[in-house]
Amino acid sequence: LFNKDLGQHILKNPLVAKGIVDKANLKSSDTVLEIGPGTGNVTVRILEQCKKTIAVEMDPRLAAELTKRVRGTPEQKKLDIIVGDFLKVDLPYFDVCISNTPYQISSPLVFKLLLHRPIFRCAILMFQREFALRLVAKPGETLYCRLSVNVQLLAKVDHIMKVGKNNFRPPPKVESSVVRIELRQPPPPVDFDEWDGLLRILFVRKNKTLSGNFKTSSVLEMLERNYKTVCSVKGIKIFKDVPMDFKVGKEVEKVLDSVGFKETRAAKMDIDDFLKLLNAFIDAGFRFT
Ligand code: SAM
Repeated sequence: LFNKDLGQHILKNPLVAKGIVDKANLKSSDTVLEIGPGTGNVTVRILEQCKKTIAVEMDPRLAAELTKRVRGTPEQKKLDIIVGDFLKVDLPYFDVCISNTPYQISSPLVFKLLLHRPIFRCAILMFQREFALRLVAKPGETLYCRLSVNVQLLAKVDHIMKVGKNNFRPPPKVESSVVRIELRQPPPPVDFDEWDGLLRILFVRKNKTLSGNFKTSSVLEMLERNYKTVCSVKGIKIFKDVPMDFKVGKEVEKVLDSVGFKETRAAKMDIDDFLKLLNAFIDAGFRFT
């Protein structure tokens, strides 16, 4: 009956559906974006509390079922369904996002929302438990990773509810959790691609010292190429203005030293530490993309 490739596990427990919608604190003036409404167990509760719901559902069969479910009700006018892949559609304006989608798309889904503009009030999102715990992990915790840092740079994330697999039909293999995401305003003043480029290097081995992670030859070659590009953009002549003994590895060490992070490990660094490091690199002419 349900399409396994589309991760169709329908939420059967009305208390969980109610809990999710309650956590969204909807206002009667809100436009809600729901991702993956399925048969509409969460949708019908959203519709009761908002001005408009736009639901993005990939499976035309379920979209048709949802259309039928609201037909003839007072809520019918409030619901727009977009049949398509959330990752590919242009998003409309919305105040709040609510999602219970397949776990394969968790990561691109989060970043599509985090980089969406204009900024929305909040998102209530159901994920596989481990993914949710990564989103909220703090420096020093086992699950702290590049995902945690990237998401926490852009948003405040709270774990708000555990949802056991038996609340779904058919039950999925893994436990779930609901998180609440609120974008930071104003957005942090960083170039996200540069930021992510730096984090990719630091989190290859998050327990290794920064100095150690920067000794890889492919990393040094990439930094040297980018450094030369920056020089040529700025009109600096590599062979004239850059000192003869310029060695990219040595320059990297100087930057790490200037912020006191040579022996620091990414696993223990917080957002401000990463920002400080990125700025020091950028000021010294380094680029990570
Ligand atoms: N939200 C419903 C509920 O709680 O009962 C259904 C949840 S079910 C886990 C996931 C839903 O997302 C399914 O209806 C599936 O067809 C839909 N879906 C899967 N991939 C999608 C995508 N890329 N874009 C939009 N919807 C998707």
